[in-house]
Amino acid sequence: MRLDERDRPLRMGEGRISGYLSIALGTLSVLAVLCFMFPDYLTTPSLRAGYNIPLMRKLLAAGMIFSAGFGVLTFILNRQKRLGALGIMLTLLAMYLGGSSVQVGPRYDAPGFIGLDWFILDLLASAATFIALEKIVPHKRDQPILRPDFWHDGRYFIFNHLAIGIFLFLGVRTMPSLFSWTINADLQSWFRTLPGVVQFVVVLVTADIMEYATHRAMHEVPVLWRFHAVHHSVERMDWMAGSRLHFLEPVVTRMAVMLPAFILGASDTPLLCYIVWAGFQAGLVHSNFGLEFGPLKYVVATPLFHHWHHGSDREAIDINYAAHLPILDRLFGTYHMPADRWPAQYGVVGNPLPKGMWRQFLYPFQRTPTNIVD
Ligand SMILES: [Zn+2]
Ligand SMILES: [Zn+2]
Repeated sequence: MRLDERDRPLRMGEGRISGYLSIALGTLSVLAVLCFMFPDYLTTPSLRAGYNIPLMRKLLAAGMIFSAGFGVLTFILNRQKRLGALGIMLTLLAMYLGGSSVQVGPRYDAPGFIGLDWFILDLLASAATFIALEKIVPHKRDQPILRPDFWHDGRYFIFNHLAIGIFLFLGVRTMPSLFSWTINADLQSWFRTLPGVVQFVVVLVTADIMEYATHRAMHEVPVLWRFHAVHHSVERMDWMAGSRLHFLEPVVTRMAVMLPAFILGASDTPLLCYIVWAGFQAGLVHSNFGLEFGPLKYVVATPLFHHWHHGSDREAIDINYAAHLPILDRLFGTYHMPADRWPAQYGVVGNPLPKGMWRQFLYPFQRTPTNIVD
């Protein structure tokens, strides 16, 4: 397959959709089997504790059946046989390694881990949810799922998910040593007596105040902007676009955002609900989902709100910093969301960023960054 074919819109009956699905599910099946074999090295400890293993085995079996099925369908359509063959080979490899009845590997007490399980589960859940939303009510009707730069942002998605161990190590694990002086046992035990819903709301509001402050600093302090500009170099918005983040940005922002919950000592369930909600909303606000949510759009951050943040028109510069609550931007004078239209274009004015993930990682550290204009 020629490289430029990857960016061509997908059409039904060509065999490319079934071919890609077969390869994607086959790859995820192989990776899932490896997670079963080497849990200490490849899975996220906090997730591992809550897994329902029989359910995970059923999910893996379903992935393999669909991978093989889509592979066969590609052959029936009599097109793109190489895609179908690759998908079927990956399914056979997953079966060879043990398939859905693979033995769970021994404990090694690994010093670190790669978040392969988080990558598989988040990719499946996000793709299923957001591709459906983007197809049902698209904002840009003519934008294909595999739009230009989709694979570029996909690389960020993979990297940032696999590096979750490093993020957790740098963020959550170093937090106790850096901020232990902020802990007040009386405050924490009082906070834990509050109802879960109240704890969730307090965590959400305080996290978003921290998000607002760090996000605004990244726009207004020139040296920080060079890191954050990577995220703003996105020119086509969809659920995958939000993954484009400089490696160091999530390390700093996640630590800042979780700091109030850490000081307050929030209970596990409200904290988990916040993390799930924040992950879902991050995908939603970047997605090519055209629903405007009526009056709700003034209460919670929606695609319309965050698309304006990514706009490159003059009126869209340095606005809408909140991740969850637009009221913060109203309070601090940075709110901008015309009710009747979306931004005309997205990206960084002048396109100063280089192409490619590794070159974008180096961009903030370069004295005279290369000016590559599309
Ligand atoms: Zn921004
Ligand atoms: Zn964004």
